[in-house]
Amino acid sequence: MRQGDMERHRLRIILCSSTGNKTGRDWDHEGSVCVSVMGQARQDEPDATLTFLVILPILPAKARNTGNPLPLNQALPAAAKQTAHPGCAAFADKAAKVQYAKVSLEIGNLMRNFACTNCGNTLYFENVSCLKCGHAVGFHAPTLSMVTLQPASASPGLFKIVKGKDASAQRYCSNASYGVCNWLTTADDSNTLCIACDLNRTIPNLSEFGSLKAWDELERAKKRLVYSILRYGLPLESKTQSPGRLTFDFARDTKTGHLDGVISIDIMEADAVERERQRQHFDEPYRTLLGHLRHESGHFYWSILVENTKYIDAFRVLFGDERQSYSDAIERHHAFGPSANWQSKHVSAYATSHPWEDWAETWAHYLHMTEAVDTAEATGMEPRAAGLIFGSIWPFKRYDIYRDETFEALIGRWIPLTIAMNSVTRSIGHNDFYPFVIPAPAFEKLAFVHSVIRESPLRRSSAN
Ligand SMILES: [Zn+2]
Ligand SMILES: [Zn+2]
Ligand SMILES: [Zn+2]
Repeated sequence: MRQGDMERHRLRIILCSSTGNKTGRDWDHEGSVCVSVMGQARQDEPDATLTFLVILPILPAKARNTGNPLPLNQALPAAAKQTAHPGCAAFADKAAKVQYAKVSLEIGNLMRNFACTNCGNTLYFENVSCLKCGHAVGFHAPTLSMVTLQPASASPGLFKIVKGKDASAQRYCSNASYGVCNWLTTADDSNTLCIACDLNRTIPNLSEFGSLKAWDELERAKKRLVYSILRYGLPLESKTQSPGRLTFDFARDTKTGHLDGVISIDIMEADAVERERQRQHFDEPYRTLLGHLRHESGHFYWSILVENTKYIDAFRVLFGDERQSYSDAIERHHAFGPSANWQSKHVSAYATSHPWEDWAETWAHYLHMTEAVDTAEATGMEPRAAGLIFGSIWPFKRYDIYRDETFEALIGRWIPLTIAMNSVTRSIGHNDFYPFVIPAPAFEKLAFVHSVIRESPLRRSSAN
């Protein structure tokens, strides 16, 4: 164990709440030494900057746990002592070498901010109004956050963001009138569709019974996919695929799949009974609309991120040679099924059918992992493997799980999260949250997906 690791394991963090403002949570780990964190977070203003004064007597100069370069070896300012808890201030006075850092954490920078910007109530990604204060809410793509709205003027349908940095007038995507979208566009945009709905080429025939409900379910899943793509900063456009960008066809009796940049989904997949029938027919542990969309998007991004790039050779080593006949491979898979020992190399049985499908299955799992870890952190969940103590300082990390973390760090959080969540879902009689066991070779493939995304020159800078 390196010394830095030793220090990390001995870390103890206490949040001071002498001001009466809850700063969040308290951590207290056995066998730890001491680091005091005095925070004044104004939870009544959820969009306000959180300012923490951190006294770090034992942290090394490079505070590797926060990832932030901290201005250490400076005197504790008098003003800081006044705001500190008496016990903490006394401790600070006694410390021979007090080191401190003032860390500003904007919630929006830290992780997704799905809270009402008017009252602080937690919001779901799909909400159109705050259940606590009644304000309209919507998804603001430029900041990848949920925002609270108030009528902008006498013009009906135009809104201003409550306490938002973006002062431009907003309106809901025109698909909101069908109840299938809560994303916003700006009032001066000639395109009345949001960035996600604008990717639709075909929507279900709404004169048919059940189509509107199916479309709603498809849009919910698609919004989560598009959100992830935007968080990664990956392009929605493609120079090599004919429609020029990621495109969706949602139709009845179409074949679910991907062809030349177009993702087609049979809307029967939105029927829970039919989907379960298919799941059992194909003997799958998991079948969801979001899983379909993530898988199919993998084919789109393979041609952008891997084909004709420096990664193609490494891809072939890990996944196999994709130049073998695709139609023969799929036919063979449907006729004879996967090889007997597929669990030792692949994330799923279908991944064995062809290298492209292996990639798409792995891609989908990678997107599941990133999004689930991000959501877990945003909601304060902190499952950790036995003995892994330093996971406790997650909330002080100023990072974006979609962009900043190593693959090892992501997996380090993903595995305890899946164990915890599987235990929770079993405890109330549901199926496993994540019904997969990932073999070592599949981890290598996941790490490859991670690198390909992280290193892509096509990525846009963070929206935050
Ligand atoms: Zn509210
Ligand atoms: Zn929309
Ligand atoms: Zn596929």
